[in-house]
Amino acid sequence: MVFRNQGCSGIVELESALARKGYEKRRISPAAVEVENRADAAVAKICVFTGSRQGVRSQYAAAARQLGAALVERGYGLVYGGGNVGLMTVIADAVLELGGHVTGVIPDSLVTKEVAHQGLSDLRIVRSMHERKAVMAELSDGFIAMPGGIGTLEEFFEVLSWAQLGIHGKPCGLLNTSGYYDQLIQFLDYAVDQDFLKPKHRSLLILENGPAELLRRFEAFMAKRGDQRFDRSKI
Ligand code: AMP
Repeated sequence: MVFRNQGCSGIVELESALARKGYEKRRISPAAVEVENRADAAVAKICVFTGSRQGVRSQYAAAARQLGAALVERGYGLVYGGGNVGLMTVIADAVLELGGHVTGVIPDSLVTKEVAHQGLSDLRIVRSMHERKAVMAELSDGFIAMPGGIGTLEEFFEVLSWAQLGIHGKPCGLLNTSGYYDQLIQFLDYAVDQDFLKPKHRSLLILENGPAELLRRFEAFMAKRGDQRFDRSKI
């Protein structure tokens, strides 16, 4: 596990607070971080937003495990919120168990609340929710929302609105496990009907019931699009 603090001024206090909580820190030189960043960049990564709870149906956790397996099978690393709670930890554990790469990005304020996952390939502790989302967006080549609550919806709609504004050109998909997002999709269609959402922007949302189908759609989307960079200066 690597703690790569993203420019936090209170780095010493944070590190000692984490050490007190039992998080072990690996000391690495700036050059080594650079090498790791380059190695990381070589692996395509998919960001998954999902619940800090597991929901009432066993199908939700089953779908998280399936998506984790599909990511590893197709050679993608996982980027997620870094917590050890809910569906978030189910997918992270599934990827790790299959030998995949997992990057967690968590604000220091949530390290205790969501219990930062201690077994990740790379754990990045950042200063704020905003920084968390910007780092996740920068690191990832595409975004998926699985079932979740307000946090999941907020994170996903932010990257979708960034796609609408042309801040990035990365695929955004909803994994509609057990029809969880049916009403949300109906609502978006109503927004089109009422002329608050352009059909071309509604079509930015890739919708599938199964992980493998969703990743195939992502690959087709990425093959068509050239520049997928995320321009942090535009947010
Ligand atoms: P939820 O879907 O509400 O269970 O939340 C899923 C994840 O979203 C959790 O890791 C929350 O910490 C995170 N979250 C909630 N609100 C925000 C926010 N405004 N920015 C970034 N992450 C958030």
